[in-house]
Amino acid sequence: MMPLAVRERVIAWIREHRPAVVDMTGGAPELIPGFRELVQAARAVGCQVIDRCNLAVLDEPGQEDLIDFLVENEVTVVASMPCYLSDNVDRQRGRGTYDRSIRGLQRLNAAGCGRDGQLPLYLVYNPGGASLPPAQDALERDYRTRLQDDWGITFTGLWCLANVPITRFRAFLERSGKLADYEELLWQSYNPATLEGVMCRSTVSVDHRGRVYDCDFNLALGLDMGDVAVDSNTPRHLWDITPTRLSGKTIATGTHCLACTAGCGSSCTGAVAPTPTL
Ligand code: SF4
Repeated sequence: MMPLAVRERVIAWIREHRPAVVDMTGGAPELIPGFRELVQAARAVGCQVIDRCNLAVLDEPGQEDLIDFLVENEVTVVASMPCYLSDNVDRQRGRGTYDRSIRGLQRLNAAGCGRDGQLPLYLVYNPGGASLPPAQDALERDYRTRLQDDWGITFTGLWCLANVPITRFRAFLERSGKLADYEELLWQSYNPATLEGVMCRSTVSVDHRGRVYDCDFNLALGLDMGDVAVDSNTPRHLWDITPTRLSGKTIATGTHCLACTAGCGSSCTGAVAPTPTL
Protein backbone atom coordinates (compact mmCIF):
# COMPACT_ATOMS: atom_id res chain seq x y z
CA MET A 1 0.00 0.00 0.00
CA MET A 2 1.43 3.37 -1.02
CA PRO A 3 0.40 6.01 1.52
CA LEU A 4 -1.35 9.13 0.22
CA ALA A 5 1.61 11.39 1.02
CA VAL A 6 3.92 9.16 -1.08
CA ARG A 7 1.39 8.93 -3.91
CA GLU A 8 1.14 12.69 -4.05
CA ARG A 9 4.91 13.06 -4.36
CA VAL A 10 5.08 10.32 -7.00
CA ILE A 11 2.32 11.98 -9.00
CA ALA A 12 4.06 15.35 -8.73
CA TRP A 13 7.26 13.73 -10.04
CA ILE A 14 5.41 12.13 -12.95
CA ARG A 15 3.85 15.48 -13.84
CA GLU A 16 7.21 17.20 -13.75
CA HIS A 17 9.35 14.62 -15.54
CA ARG A 18 6.81 12.85 -17.78
CA PRO A 19 8.47 9.43 -18.03
CA ALA A 20 7.73 7.59 -21.27
CA VAL A 21 6.21 4.64 -19.37
CA VAL A 22 4.61 4.20 -15.96
CA ASP A 23 4.43 0.47 -15.33
CA MET A 24 2.38 -0.70 -12.34
CA THR A 25 2.87 -4.08 -10.75
CA GLY A 26 2.57 -5.72 -7.35
CA GLY A 27 0.33 -8.76 -7.43
CA ALA A 28 -2.88 -6.82 -8.01
CA PRO A 29 -1.97 -3.13 -8.41
CA GLU A 30 -5.58 -2.30 -9.28
CA LEU A 31 -6.60 -2.97 -5.68
CA ILE A 32 -4.16 -0.46 -4.23
CA PRO A 33 -5.84 2.75 -3.09
CA GLY A 34 -4.93 5.51 -5.51
CA PHE A 35 -4.32 3.18 -8.49
CA ARG A 36 -6.84 4.97 -10.67
CA GLU A 37 -5.61 8.39 -9.59
CA LEU A 38 -2.04 7.40 -10.57
CA VAL A 39 -3.20 6.07 -13.94
CA GLN A 40 -5.13 9.23 -14.74
CA ALA A 41 -2.32 11.52 -13.63
CA ALA A 42 0.21 9.65 -15.79
CA ARG A 43 -2.08 9.51 -18.81
CA ALA A 44 -2.86 13.21 -18.50
CA VAL A 45 0.79 14.06 -19.15
CA GLY A 46 1.13 11.57 -22.02
CA CYS A 47 2.84 8.60 -20.33
CA GLN A 48 2.14 5.11 -21.60
CA VAL A 49 0.62 3.30 -18.62
CA ILE A 50 1.05 -0.44 -18.16
CA ASP A 51 -1.11 -2.45 -15.77
CA ARG A 52 0.44 -5.82 -14.83
CA CYS A 53 -2.87 -7.57 -14.35
CA ASN A 54 -3.30 -11.01 -12.79
CA LEU A 55 -6.70 -11.35 -14.55
CA ALA A 56 -8.30 -12.80 -11.39
CA VAL A 57 -8.75 -9.22 -10.17
CA LEU A 58 -11.27 -8.60 -12.94
CA ASP A 59 -13.68 -10.89 -11.02
CA GLU A 60 -13.15 -9.16 -7.67
CA PRO A 61 -16.20 -7.54 -6.07
CA GLY A 62 -15.95 -3.79 -6.57
CA GLN A 63 -13.92 -4.15 -9.78
CA GLU A 64 -16.87 -4.55 -12.13
CA ASP A 65 -15.96 -1.32 -13.93
CA LEU A 66 -12.20 -1.98 -14.05
CA ILE A 67 -12.07 -3.00 -17.72
CA ASP A 68 -14.06 0.08 -18.73
CA PHE A 69 -11.64 2.23 -16.73
CA LEU A 70 -8.58 0.63 -18.39
CA VAL A 71 -10.06 1.05 -21.87
CA GLU A 72 -11.21 4.61 -21.25
CA ASN A 73 -7.69 5.56 -20.12
CA GLU A 74 -5.97 3.57 -22.90
CA VAL A 75 -3.96 1.48 -20.47
CA THR A 76 -1.73 -1.27 -21.86
CA VAL A 77 -2.73 -4.48 -20.11
CA VAL A 78 0.01 -7.06 -19.47
CA ALA A 79 -1.52 -10.27 -18.19
CA SER A 80 0.18 -13.23 -16.61
CA MET A 81 -0.68 -16.45 -18.49
CA PRO A 82 1.86 -19.16 -17.66
CA CYS A 83 0.52 -21.64 -20.23
CA TYR A 84 -2.26 -22.14 -22.78
CA LEU A 85 -3.14 -25.49 -21.17
CA SER A 86 -5.41 -25.55 -18.15
CA ASP A 87 -3.58 -28.28 -16.18
CA ASN A 88 -0.29 -26.38 -16.27
CA VAL A 89 -1.84 -23.09 -15.19
CA ASP A 90 -3.88 -24.61 -12.36
CA ARG A 91 -0.88 -26.59 -11.11
CA GLN A 92 1.28 -23.46 -11.04
CA ARG A 93 -1.29 -20.90 -9.84
CA GLY A 94 -4.04 -22.88 -8.11
CA ARG A 95 -7.22 -24.64 -9.21
CA GLY A 96 -9.66 -22.46 -11.16
CA THR A 97 -7.00 -19.94 -12.21
CA TYR A 98 -7.08 -21.04 -15.86
CA ASP A 99 -10.85 -20.63 -16.22
CA ARG A 100 -10.74 -17.24 -14.50
CA SER A 101 -7.88 -16.14 -16.75
CA ILE A 102 -9.66 -17.24 -19.93
CA ARG A 103 -12.80 -15.44 -18.83
CA GLY A 104 -10.76 -12.32 -18.12
CA LEU A 105 -9.01 -12.42 -21.51
CA GLN A 106 -12.35 -12.86 -23.30
CA ARG A 107 -13.78 -9.86 -21.47
CA LEU A 108 -10.71 -7.78 -22.36
CA ASN A 109 -11.02 -8.83 -26.01
CA ALA A 110 -14.71 -7.94 -26.00
CA ALA A 111 -13.80 -4.48 -24.69
CA GLY A 112 -11.31 -4.00 -27.54
CA CYS A 113 -8.02 -4.98 -25.86
CA GLY A 114 -5.75 -7.26 -27.89
CA ARG A 115 -7.73 -6.90 -31.11
CA ASP A 116 -5.97 -5.69 -34.26
CA GLY A 117 -5.49 -1.94 -34.30
CA GLN A 118 -7.05 -1.52 -30.86
CA LEU A 119 -5.60 -1.36 -27.32
CA PRO A 120 -2.57 -3.56 -26.69
CA LEU A 121 -2.89 -6.71 -24.59
CA TYR A 122 0.31 -8.61 -23.85
CA LEU A 123 0.60 -12.01 -22.19
CA VAL A 124 3.47 -13.02 -19.94
CA TYR A 125 4.93 -16.50 -19.76
CA ASN A 126 7.44 -17.74 -17.22
CA PRO A 127 8.58 -21.35 -16.78
CA GLY A 128 6.90 -23.41 -14.08
CA GLY A 129 10.21 -24.60 -12.66
CA ALA A 130 13.99 -24.57 -12.87
CA SER A 131 14.39 -24.10 -16.61
CA LEU A 132 14.86 -21.23 -19.06
CA PRO A 133 11.97 -20.02 -21.20
CA PRO A 134 11.75 -21.47 -24.73
CA ALA A 135 12.21 -19.24 -27.81
CA GLN A 136 9.69 -16.42 -27.47
CA ASP A 137 8.60 -16.27 -31.13
CA ALA A 138 7.85 -19.99 -31.36
CA LEU A 139 5.96 -20.01 -28.07
CA GLU A 140 3.95 -16.97 -29.13
CA ARG A 141 2.85 -18.83 -32.27
CA ASP A 142 1.69 -21.77 -30.12
CA TYR A 143 -0.21 -19.45 -27.76
CA ARG A 144 -1.90 -17.71 -30.70
CA THR A 145 -3.03 -20.96 -32.27
CA ARG A 146 -4.32 -22.58 -29.09
CA LEU A 147 -6.00 -19.55 -27.54
CA GLN A 148 -7.64 -18.62 -30.85
CA ASP A 149 -8.78 -22.15 -31.71
CA ASP A 150 -9.94 -23.11 -28.22
CA TRP A 151 -11.33 -19.83 -26.93
CA GLY A 152 -11.38 -17.24 -29.73
CA ILE A 153 -8.85 -15.14 -27.81
CA THR A 154 -6.42 -12.76 -29.54
CA PHE A 155 -3.55 -10.78 -28.06
CA THR A 156 -0.83 -8.36 -29.14
CA GLY A 157 2.28 -10.30 -28.15
CA LEU A 158 3.80 -12.76 -25.69
CA TRP A 159 6.67 -11.84 -23.38
CA CYS A 160 8.82 -14.65 -21.96
CA LEU A 161 10.38 -13.97 -18.56
CA ALA A 162 13.00 -16.09 -16.80
CA ASN A 163 12.56 -16.98 -13.14
CA VAL A 164 15.02 -15.08 -10.97
CA PRO A 165 16.35 -17.21 -8.09
CA ILE A 166 15.36 -14.88 -5.24
CA THR A 167 12.68 -14.83 -2.52
CA ARG A 168 9.89 -17.43 -2.98
CA PHE A 169 11.34 -19.03 -6.11
CA ARG A 170 14.71 -19.39 -4.38
CA ALA A 171 13.00 -21.03 -1.38
CA PHE A 172 11.25 -23.43 -3.77
CA LEU A 173 14.58 -24.30 -5.44
CA GLU A 174 16.19 -24.91 -2.06
CA ARG A 175 13.30 -27.09 -0.86
CA SER A 176 13.40 -29.18 -4.02
CA GLY A 177 17.22 -29.45 -4.09
CA LYS A 178 17.42 -27.69 -7.48
CA LEU A 179 19.12 -24.43 -6.58
CA ALA A 180 22.68 -25.47 -7.52
CA ASP A 181 21.56 -26.95 -10.86
CA TYR A 182 19.52 -23.88 -11.74
CA GLU A 183 22.35 -21.49 -10.89
CA GLU A 184 24.72 -23.61 -12.96
CA LEU A 185 22.27 -23.50 -15.87
CA LEU A 186 22.20 -19.69 -15.63
CA TRP A 187 26.01 -19.50 -15.56
CA GLN A 188 26.33 -21.83 -18.54
CA SER A 189 23.70 -19.90 -20.50
CA TYR A 190 25.19 -16.44 -19.97
CA ASN A 191 24.81 -14.43 -23.18
CA PRO A 192 26.63 -11.06 -23.41
CA ALA A 193 24.31 -10.06 -26.27
CA THR A 194 21.59 -9.51 -23.66
CA LEU A 195 23.44 -6.78 -21.78
CA GLU A 196 22.19 -3.89 -23.91
CA GLY A 197 18.59 -4.84 -23.26
CA VAL A 198 18.37 -5.60 -19.54
CA MET A 199 15.68 -3.45 -17.98
CA CYS A 200 17.83 -1.81 -15.30
CA ARG A 201 19.51 0.25 -18.04
CA SER A 202 16.34 2.12 -18.92
CA THR A 203 13.97 1.86 -15.94
CA VAL A 204 13.85 2.51 -12.23
CA SER A 205 11.60 0.71 -9.76
CA VAL A 206 9.78 2.65 -7.07
CA ASP A 207 8.46 0.96 -3.95
CA HIS A 208 5.50 1.87 -1.75
CA ARG A 209 7.69 4.27 0.26
CA GLY A 210 8.87 6.07 -2.86
CA ARG A 211 12.35 4.50 -2.62
CA VAL A 212 14.06 3.88 -5.95
CA TYR A 213 15.95 0.77 -7.07
CA ASP A 214 17.66 -0.29 -10.26
CA CYS A 215 15.02 -2.96 -10.91
CA ASP A 216 12.12 -4.87 -9.43
CA PHE A 217 14.37 -7.74 -8.31
CA ASN A 218 16.71 -5.41 -6.47
CA LEU A 219 13.65 -3.85 -4.90
CA ALA A 220 12.52 -7.29 -3.68
CA LEU A 221 16.01 -7.90 -2.29
CA GLY A 222 16.27 -4.43 -0.71
CA LEU A 223 19.40 -3.86 -2.78
CA ASP A 224 19.93 -0.11 -3.03
CA MET A 225 20.89 1.60 -6.27
CA GLY A 226 24.49 1.01 -7.22
CA ASP A 227 25.91 4.38 -6.30
CA VAL A 228 24.08 4.49 -2.98
CA ALA A 229 26.39 1.83 -1.63
CA VAL A 230 29.45 4.00 -2.22
CA ASP A 231 28.01 7.48 -1.86
CA SER A 232 25.73 8.16 1.06
CA ASN A 233 24.66 11.45 -0.53
CA THR A 234 23.10 9.69 -3.47
CA PRO A 235 19.33 10.20 -3.34
CA ARG A 236 17.15 7.23 -2.50
CA HIS A 237 13.65 8.51 -3.15
CA LEU A 238 12.02 9.23 -6.48
CA TRP A 239 11.52 12.89 -5.60
CA ASP A 240 15.24 13.30 -4.95
CA ILE A 241 16.26 12.27 -8.45
CA THR A 242 15.85 13.46 -12.00
CA PRO A 243 16.29 11.32 -15.10
CA THR A 244 19.44 13.30 -15.88
CA ARG A 245 20.97 12.51 -12.49
CA LEU A 246 20.46 8.80 -13.14
CA SER A 247 22.36 8.86 -16.37
CA GLY A 248 25.67 7.02 -16.07
CA LYS A 249 25.01 5.73 -12.54
CA THR A 250 26.37 2.36 -11.54
CA ILE A 251 23.75 -0.40 -11.39
CA ALA A 252 23.78 -2.68 -8.35
CA THR A 253 24.23 -6.24 -9.53
CA GLY A 254 24.51 -9.72 -8.06
CA THR A 255 24.43 -13.35 -9.15
CA HIS A 256 20.64 -13.03 -9.55
CA CYS A 257 21.39 -10.88 -12.64
CA LEU A 258 22.36 -14.06 -14.47
CA ALA A 259 18.64 -14.79 -14.86
CA CYS A 260 18.30 -11.61 -16.97
CA THR A 261 21.32 -12.44 -19.11
CA ALA A 262 20.86 -16.17 -19.77
CA GLY A 263 19.86 -17.43 -23.22
CA CYS A 264 17.67 -14.85 -24.97
CA GLY A 265 17.68 -12.71 -21.85
CA SER A 266 14.74 -11.52 -19.82
CA SER A 267 13.35 -8.05 -19.14
CA CYS A 268 9.99 -6.58 -18.16
CA THR A 269 9.08 -6.79 -21.86
CA GLY A 270 10.35 -10.33 -22.41
CA ALA A 271 13.35 -11.63 -24.35
CA VAL A 272 16.03 -9.10 -25.27
CA ALA A 273 18.28 -11.02 -27.68
CA PRO A 274 17.90 -13.53 -30.51
CA THR A 275 18.17 -17.20 -29.65
CA PRO A 276 21.93 -17.87 -29.24
CA THR A 277 23.45 -20.30 -31.73
CA LEU A 278 25.30 -23.18 -30.09
S1 SF4 B 1 18.43 -8.42 -11.84
FE1 SF4 B 1 20.36 -7.43 -12.41
S2 SF4 B 1 20.48 -7.53 -14.68
FE2 SF4 B 1 18.36 -7.95 -14.04
S3 SF4 B 1 17.37 -5.97 -14.20
FE3 SF4 B 1 18.03 -6.23 -12.06
S4 SF4 B 1 20.05 -5.27 -11.95
FE4 SF4 B 1 19.57 -5.57 -14.13
